[in-house]
Amino acid sequence: MKRSKQHLMKRTTRVYLNQLNPGKTATVKNFVYFCHNIMQYYVDLFWQRQDFSGKLADLPTVHLGKNRFLTTTRLCQALAKQAKEIVRSQHKKNVKRKPRLRYHTVTLFYHFVTIEKFEQNGFDWAVKLIGSGAPRLIIPVPSTQLIQQRIADGWLLSKTIRMGIRRDGRLWIDFIFEKERPKLKEEGKIVGMDSNYKNGLVFSDGQTTGDAIYKRTIEFAKRQKHTKAEVKSLIGVAIKQIDFSQIKAIVVEDLKKVKSGTRGTFSRRFNRRLSHWLYRYSETLLERKCEEMGIEVIRKNPWKTSQFCRHCFKWDRRNRRGDKFLCVNCHHGVEHADFNASKNLELLGLLGFYGIHDLQNSCKSKF
Ligand SMILES: [Zn+2]
Repeated sequence: MKRSKQHLMKRTTRVYLNQLNPGKTATVKNFVYFCHNIMQYYVDLFWQRQDFSGKLADLPTVHLGKNRFLTTTRLCQALAKQAKEIVRSQHKKNVKRKPRLRYHTVTLFYHFVTIEKFEQNGFDWAVKLIGSGAPRLIIPVPSTQLIQQRIADGWLLSKTIRMGIRRDGRLWIDFIFEKERPKLKEEGKIVGMDSNYKNGLVFSDGQTTGDAIYKRTIEFAKRQKHTKAEVKSLIGVAIKQIDFSQIKAIVVEDLKKVKSGTRGTFSRRFNRRLSHWLYRYSETLLERKCEEMGIEVIRKNPWKTSQFCRHCFKWDRRNRRGDKFLCVNCHHGVEHADFNASKNLELLGLLGFYGIHDLQNSCKSKF
């Protein structure tokens, strides 16, 4: 059964090839560098031609690379295609800059690679480079829990892989998994979620999770490398703790509207960029999780959601004192300001307004 690409969810899982023997490691790395050079050659060429088409490169162009790098037509075709996609990505931008390939990464299709079950000595897969411009060799891939979990969850392994070298010289393979996207749930609650890294993720149905992340981040702020890896796993754990069974839609803050510096006062040791990354990362993780469960993610303007009173529909700066919400007009409260924000996001979701402003304007016109 063939389905169009829109019906497919995609996930990649990275495996580092630390156990690969030095000879093979060198061969594979040389191949990645080789591909990188060819790709850079094509990026330069398409940039020079101002070709943003994204179409397949024509044969004379493919042959230019083939003759220059003394390799196969097929490899040049594949790399020219990847170079075109990179150049094309500049097309929409107002200020177009010649793309520089910062990472050593190459996508390999089934012409160059096959993936087979291996199951020996702690290895699960054998990735075989099969020529067509790539070297011929077998890469045993160590088993990882994440890959086993994906397969147990019904994900299908794509025939295409990505391969690359990290800045510290470590070689990796990305496996690509695909699965049909489930239909959106029709039954369930619409729930608002406020993400504030002092208090974690606060849901309008009363669930809270991830309140340990902020503390941990501050403790580790000086050693960013460790922080990111650890915080990633903390966010993963936090999201796993949420009970999604009664939820059909989650209303979250539209991150485009979250200005930097408006997220409360971070201590000086708490890196701004890190906090920004934290929001993005937890949003991505939540989004993926929701996609897999058929839960809709709705984005709303977070402006004033923690100071707005959903009982008298009035907003006042004084409604919020620190973490406490208490309405100065109707005295509704006392509750946590983040919980109030999540309730207001839920309200926006239920009523279909993008922000508090639109909600208030529509009330004014009614009375
Ligand atoms: Zn009120």
